[in-house]
Amino acid sequence: AKLEGKREACFFDDRMDAAERSRRKLETSLRSAVEGNLIEVVYQPIIQVSTGDITSFEALARWNQPERGPVPPDVFIPLAEDCGLIDEMGQQVLRRACADALQWPSHIKVAINLSPRQFLSGKLVETVQTVLEDTGLPADRLHLEITENLVIQNADEAFSQLEMLKHKGIQISVDDFGVGYSSLGYFQTFGFNKVKIDKSFIAEIESSQAAKAIVMAVVGLARQLSIAVVAEGVETPQQYQTLSELGCSQLQGYLFSPPIPVDRIDSFLRRQQNE
Ligand code: C2E
Ligand code: CA
Ligand code: CA
Ligand code: CA
Repeated sequence: AKLEGKREACFFDDRMDAAERSRRKLETSLRSAVEGNLIEVVYQPIIQVSTGDITSFEALARWNQPERGPVPPDVFIPLAEDCGLIDEMGQQVLRRACADALQWPSHIKVAINLSPRQFLSGKLVETVQTVLEDTGLPADRLHLEITENLVIQNADEAFSQLEMLKHKGIQISVDDFGVGYSSLGYFQTFGFNKVKIDKSFIAEIESSQAAKAIVMAVVGLARQLSIAVVAEGVETPQQYQTLSELGCSQLQGYLFSPPIPVDRIDSFLRRQQNE
């Protein structure tokens, strides 16, 4: 048994090495992608339930790794956070998305995801300001999506930066609401403009009474606070029906459109108008 244990340990070590080597390779490759400004951005529409109009597009980062093909953001975003690349990558996504949004009809906003790490450098507010000036995008066309975790990690510091961003006219949304260590108290501390209900609740809204109750509670909360509520991950007409009955003001999901490349937005909007 002793011998077996030892063999297992060796095997485990080898595997650790392989995993670590593979991670380092991916990290090096990500570094050169960021240096080469090769991270791409796709856009997913958010629809106003009452009118069917597109209110905004959410910018989502994409990385096509030369050997592996597309690497999901759930893999490369945490990697970028761990190896100090997130500020640079985040800035590139922001710059690209603001420049792209300037080509759209002026009532359509652009939403950008922020990593909690981007609040740590102390330069975020300045970076956003610079990008808005450089691109010429009006601040009220920019929405920033933050997760609840942000607030947990460095509350005071994060809130003061959020306050400055909001003061410029930028809208602030809480993303993935309900899955983190939510505290409703955050809504008292900060005047968020929008709350996005996590797609895990939407996926179960037909099958789980609890999921439906949570969606109803968030819609009620948003209504009391006079803020917009978005359901994400809407995939079926039935979910659409239920969510609009419950009073969700905005919807996003594959039912309307997957994230699309910027060069398809024009034709997407034209098709939408003709419907
Ligand atoms: P998120 O911000 O919650 O984005 C929504 C995710 O749901 C996106 O995954 C989107 O493609 C996916 N989605 C949209 N509609 C549906 C649907 O109907 N059903 C299902 N099952 N999924 C749907 P994606 O693009 O893989 O991004 C994953 C996460 O990576 C994002 O979650 C966000 O947290 C992060 N992320 C993506 N781009 C960026 C970025 O530029 N910066 C930062 N900091 N994070 C990003
Ligand atoms: Ca988001
Ligand atoms: Ca989300
Ligand atoms: Ca998410």
